[in-house]
Amino acid sequence: MRVLLLNPPGRELYVRDYFCSKTTKSNYHFHPVDLLALSGTVAAEHDVSVLDCIAEGLSLRAAHARIDALKPAAIISLVGSVSWEEDREFLRLQASRGRRVFAIGDVLHADAEERLREEPWLEVILDDFTTADAAHLLSGREGEVQRSTWRRDDGAVVQRDEPRHGREHRLPRPLHELFPSSGYRFSFARRAPFATVLTDYGCPWSCTFCVISTLGHSTRPVEDVLEEVDALIAGGTRELFVADQTFGVSRDRALELCRAFRERDLSWTAFTRPDLADDELLQAMRGAGCHTLIMGVESADDEVLEACRKGYASDTVVGAFARARAHGLRTVGTFVVGLPDETEGSLERTLDLALALELDFMSLNVAVPRFGTPFRDDAVAAGLIDPSELVMDQSGATVALPTKALSRAEVERFKRRMVRRFYLRPSWLWRRVRDVSGPRELFAQAREGLALLARNA
Ligand code: SF4
Repeated sequence: MRVLLLNPPGRELYVRDYFCSKTTKSNYHFHPVDLLALSGTVAAEHDVSVLDCIAEGLSLRAAHARIDALKPAAIISLVGSVSWEEDREFLRLQASRGRRVFAIGDVLHADAEERLREEPWLEVILDDFTTADAAHLLSGREGEVQRSTWRRDDGAVVQRDEPRHGREHRLPRPLHELFPSSGYRFSFARRAPFATVLTDYGCPWSCTFCVISTLGHSTRPVEDVLEEVDALIAGGTRELFVADQTFGVSRDRALELCRAFRERDLSWTAFTRPDLADDELLQAMRGAGCHTLIMGVESADDEVLEACRKGYASDTVVGAFARARAHGLRTVGTFVVGLPDETEGSLERTLDLALALELDFMSLNVAVPRFGTPFRDDAVAAGLIDPSELVMDQSGATVALPTKALSRAEVERFKRRMVRRFYLRPSWLWRRVRDVSGPRELFAQAREGLALLARNA
């Protein structure tokens, strides 16, 4: 069967990926990990092609024309709450041309049966891109489905299996070569081209605002990851964005990956948690070519951290960033402003901490009620959001909720101030200029920085 993996077109530069969707905060756009994983799984049985309309900058009309030329019998598409009205109209038109439509995305992550009933053009909602469910359902093997919701010929909707922790999953090698060779941008990359790689799925921690905490956690065998990495190296790619949400969940496995990466002359960026970032792990990562480490700071206020079940306090954060710098890693701190217990005082302390940590980059996010999260359930219960409202931008371009003490406008003002205060320091700008490896990286960072500042003027 001809199957198309699709990132649909959009009016904005949308990032739809890994049960999150947003307009890009600056100008980045990396390979959608959902489609990468599905590329190997579905291609094991079917004739697969990939169309990333966002990476290629395709208009609606051009996207329809490209799909018509490819003549797929089935489309597996990303969708997002940020673009839900556009996505459903686009895919409804494709279904009207006789194509089976499967979809995956944040907006379908909760209440999947209801979504399926509302959208008669939609045949299957996938809820875990590491399973072979798409291939099973394309081939009519309903009995083997693990975590999907689908429409049977008799109209019934069936769902199975809750996400679990401690699993291992095997994927046929993701077919990077099917994706566009340009149109993806990642300002932390130090070499071109770069590729996005996922060595595990989900996360075992339970931060209330984070959709990844709702997915369970499973790992890929190291040999499967290395098969993928070796194919990338053979194709000329040695720069990776390791998109695991927490690198180092299993210490032994992380060290094994580092040993293997070290032998391969790779350079890479990864996320981890401050409470995992001890000298042993950081030294192994740096020695294996990791140059940039992203860790969650979220807030300087320990009560805010505790309320969102972060699992560590701010002194852990300070120690981890100091160690990362000492090991020669560039550091990126991620922050969430506007969590329910946030006050003006806690936000001020968070800004002070962001400046004191000597971060190379700051990733500032606004708390948004992502589908399936405890944070969303609480916001619905408190009457702060309408559960039937499915359109939502998770980039923080607009603040979705007030805190107990601050209005949405106050959170928004503080967020803009924090971005400007952080990025417009002469000392920080000078450090960046000194740090870049050449004109390509300088241009990439300048482009992202200007886009970020324009959004927070
Ligand atoms: S540790 Fe990070 S990825 Fe894991 S649940 Fe918390 S915020 Fe999400």
